[in-house]
Amino acid sequence: MFDFIAVGLGPFNLSLACMAEPLDKLNCLFLDKKAQFDWHPGMLLQDTTLQNPFMADMVTLADPTSRYTYLNYAKQQGRLYRYFIRENWYLDRHEFNRYCQWVASQLSNVRFAHDVQDIRYDEQLQAYQVAGVNNQTGEAFCFSARKLVIGIGSTPRVPDAFNGKEHLPRPIHSTAYLNNKEQLQRCKNVTVIGSGQSGAEIFYDLLQGSEEHGYSLNWVTRSDRFFQMETAKLTLELLTPEYAEYFYGLSDQEKASTLRSQQSVFNGINQSLISKIYDHLDSRTHHAAPPAHLLSNMALNQVDYDDGQWSLRFNHQTLGTEFHHVTDGLVFATGYGYRLPSFIDGIRSRIRWDQHGCYEASRTWSVDHQDCEIYVQNAGLQSHGMANPDLGLACYRNGRLLHQLTGVDHYPSDPRIAFQEFSPGADSGFVPRAVGL
Ligand SMILES: Cc1cc2nc3c(=O)[nH]c(=O)nc-3n(C[C@H](O)[C@H](O)[C@H](O)COP(=O)(O)OP(=O)(O)OC[C@H]3O[C@@H](n4cnc5c(N)ncnc54)[C@H](O)[C@@H]3O)c2cc1C
Repeated sequence: MFDFIAVGLGPFNLSLACMAEPLDKLNCLFLDKKAQFDWHPGMLLQDTTLQNPFMADMVTLADPTSRYTYLNYAKQQGRLYRYFIRENWYLDRHEFNRYCQWVASQLSNVRFAHDVQDIRYDEQLQAYQVAGVNNQTGEAFCFSARKLVIGIGSTPRVPDAFNGKEHLPRPIHSTAYLNNKEQLQRCKNVTVIGSGQSGAEIFYDLLQGSEEHGYSLNWVTRSDRFFQMETAKLTLELLTPEYAEYFYGLSDQEKASTLRSQQSVFNGINQSLISKIYDHLDSRTHHAAPPAHLLSNMALNQVDYDDGQWSLRFNHQTLGTEFHHVTDGLVFATGYGYRLPSFIDGIRSRIRWDQHGCYEASRTWSVDHQDCEIYVQNAGLQSHGMANPDLGLACYRNGRLLHQLTGVDHYPSDPRIAFQEFSPGADSGFVPRAVGL
């Protein structure tokens, strides 16, 4: 009988596993269906980095003395001095993946190739039965645990224009970009849709190969511009526990409008990549290169496929004009959404649901009626805000989760981080007054 079982071993649960490992008396198990830790392999492009400084590794922000820190990894690999001399705080994504694989290889509480397919509650045992198949050996497994942590990440999202178009071929999503890159580079014309960091990375990657392979490129976004990710220090205070707490207390309506206004904090493109793209576009104007078009304000509203060609209709958001475009290569870099896993069907009645059919997560990420048995990681952008998918807050959330799971605060968080007060405090000199007084 485990104290808890965690399903999924992306960075969030891997960090939880590191933080749980040294806690004596805690008996927990982490399961993932992949053969090994592998972080968004379809987007492991050359020269791409994490958006967070290296301290947002699996443990440092909770326990810098842990043996699972990135610095210890660099030391073990004989790379610490080189890293010091590089003076670059932002880990290469390949390096982050290697580091996480190194961490996973040392943990005794993780099992890969374990595909969780069904969870039930055993009233007699008062425990969850987590069942599935080892997809390497084909053997079935079933483990029991008092509590659960579900951290299965998110699934690729394509525009609504695809609704009802299940008969069309599956479009390429950014998540599988590298697996499809060669096929795309054999096209005459490639269109990338979406202007977040992934869309920008894919456009830049394809731009660099377009002269050699001879394809033209289009980069299309619904946004009114290709905007930069905001990284000013006071804006980064929106990625602190204090702001996460404040956000959780807002009404649903306030949360939705706040998230809309924060697109440039969690959805933009990093400044150095914008510069590289611009410089590359500029350098191409000095010689004959295949055309590259950048189009903003274009919302995709219809999609069809015929004889190897995608037929797309866009509505220009300001001009109100409809545009038709035909392309043989198409990539959607249109983000991710949360899809409920079918393995929870057997425990649906133990979970709290909101009016949209999503988990109704408490402030401490519990979703069960007792508020102390089932926890979710990275499944509440609407309820918990943009702190939800941010790696910089993994250690904070996992510290709070372990407090809930064990009843002991093993990793107290810093009492105060932000200089800003998101809701004026009692000592601020700003006294709340009822409206109209
Ligand atoms: C390309 C890319 C780059 C990003 N870069 C950053 C960044 O620099 N900084 C940042 O803060 N955020 C970044 N993010 C956002 C976010 O941090 C990542 O998406 C992160 O991987 C989310 O971690 P996770 O643990 O929630 O889920 P995931 O990493 O998606 O992992 C979920 C795991 O659950 C497993 N799983 C699913 N179903 C089952 C099942 N039934 N049984 C067993 N296992 C299962 C999957 O195999 C997977 O390994 C990035 C996202 C992307 C797509």
